[in-house]
Amino acid sequence: MALAAGALAFSVPDPVTVMKRTHTVGTVITKCSKPGVLALAYDDGPYQYTSSLIDTLDAAGVKGTFFFTGTLYGCIYNQRAAVKKAFDNGHQVASHTWTHPHMGSMSAAAIQSEMEKVEQAMVNIFGRKPAYVRPPYLETGGQFLSVMRQMNYRCDWNNQSPQQSEQKFQQAGAGGMGHIPLMHETYQSTVTTLTTWLINWAKTNNLKIVTVAECLDDANGMYKPGNFTGNGANSC
Ligand SMILES: [Zn+2]
Repeated sequence: MALAAGALAFSVPDPVTVMKRTHTVGTVITKCSKPGVLALAYDDGPYQYTSSLIDTLDAAGVKGTFFFTGTLYGCIYNQRAAVKKAFDNGHQVASHTWTHPHMGSMSAAAIQSEMEKVEQAMVNIFGRKPAYVRPPYLETGGQFLSVMRQMNYRCDWNNQSPQQSEQKFQQAGAGGMGHIPLMHETYQSTVTTLTTWLINWAKTNNLKIVTVAECLDDANGMYKPGNFTGNGANSC
């Protein structure tokens, strides 16, 4: 978050150029476990554009991945319908922590609490717990990774810096292993322009658009095992 929205006032260039703008549009990418795929992933929602973003993906017949927070752009319970719609329509719903904090300096208990609150919200809204997390600011230091291991979260793409990922994407282009462009759904241009462009680009290059889990050869692992009954909470 906290990126200049003005930086997004572009007529959409090729994806490599888009990826080069990591620091201005907040696009971070990494690689899939297999070639021929592209995973569209969106951070920082749910927000006012979530529902129309889902419509865009649905109209194109593709699945996206949403890394939702609990409170970053308002309380997740105020966006219940959009969160449930993402799940119901087969998109991957994942965790981006409850408050979007810098977790590298937090205690293990505090990190665990960040994750559990999101899990509870997702249980309350659609009855499952996410198995994937993307840490805010890509901070994976301190206690973070050991807590994630204990909690059985997958966060495989954190081993590379945005710069390393970007370099690899530029080298690979549309070939090689698939990629995960991580976008911020809180910018309207991400929702309307960039997403449509990437969908068309994938089609042109014969890439299949998949969830992050499928891109990591884990199509059935989007959620932790089991169905859960919520506690009816609807406030943050
Ligand atoms: Zn974020």
